[in-house]
Amino acid sequence: MPKPNPYRPFEPDPEFMQLWPEGISGNAINGLGEAEVRRPDVVWWTTGKEDIAFGEMQNWFYQHEPKIDKLMALRQERRAIIEAPLPQIADRPAQRSPQDWTAQLDQFIARGVAEQVGVTRLRPEWVYAHHHTEFKQVILLAVQHQYDELKTAPTLQAGIEVTYQYCRAAEAAKQVAGWLREEGWDAEPVTGPMVGKILMIPHAIEAGFGELGKHGSMINAKFGSAFRLGAVLTDAPFAETGRHSFGVDDFCSNCRVCEEACPPAAISPEKRQVRGETKWYVDFDKCIPFFAETSGCAICIAVCPWSRPGVSDNLISKLARRAERKNQ
Ligand code: SF4
Ligand code: SF4
Repeated sequence: MPKPNPYRPFEPDPEFMQLWPEGISGNAINGLGEAEVRRPDVVWWTTGKEDIAFGEMQNWFYQHEPKIDKLMALRQERRAIIEAPLPQIADRPAQRSPQDWTAQLDQFIARGVAEQVGVTRLRPEWVYAHHHTEFKQVILLAVQHQYDELKTAPTLQAGIEVTYQYCRAAEAAKQVAGWLREEGWDAEPVTGPMVGKILMIPHAIEAGFGELGKHGSMINAKFGSAFRLGAVLTDAPFAETGRHSFGVDDFCSNCRVCEEACPPAAISPEKRQVRGETKWYVDFDKCIPFFAETSGCAICIAVCPWSRPGVSDNLISKLARRAERKNQ
């Protein structure tokens, strides 16, 4: 018997719900049920530059959160990192083999700037509909959560940890972009959680960071779902790092931990069709009230068994053995 969910039944805050844009569903903006592939639209995390239907609700999220010094300082730090100017692009672009370019990214892991790096080509269908870019390559960067902080979700302590890691991801993207510009190649950082030019998750899957979990976030072979992403757009000729699948899809089909832990039951037990692709999907309209009332929730990524430190090797071996048995 699963433990009863301490947050159910969940009743959304009426003040928040009053701001709901009439007749609008975030799921429709996300393209739920659409058979055609199309570029994504912004549903949340606007920088204020995009006029979005849920803009007032996003403002409520920021106004509603407790004004704890540590959280406010981290928000300010993230802004300062993002606004810091990038170096000029050097006149002569450095020349390296694609493999050498990609190997050079390891310096950012060695310096503790990021915990994983990868590269894939930019897919135009994953560029936001109102954005444009000529860049052809995406460098992905992962920063790992401190699990002991994350596991306190949905407390503010976890919200602070998430904000801290977004600072690190922004710093990583700025450092990599700065390095490339000093090497003579144009580069543009993409930092979360605010929407940048591209969807980061599908590019990160292509770059080998893991697979999409039932909770709509990624599962990485080392960090589970306890990590955040940053990215850099460039044309420097990096070698792609390639996908890495290790059986998550199958695992999620047989696991219900996040579904049961999600207070508003927003995690779909089945894959859904979204902008022409069949994949795991989180119901935006159900998730967002709890998310907004708890400074970003994060329960689903915290409870995912893959996020617990030290378990992933064991899970991967079990999945490999299961796959072997199936093939016998
Ligand atoms: S909790 Fe279970 S079902 Fe949910 S994403 Fe993690 S492994 Fe998949
Ligand atoms: S973030 Fe959303 S989907 Fe995840 S547990 Fe919280 S409410 Fe549910």
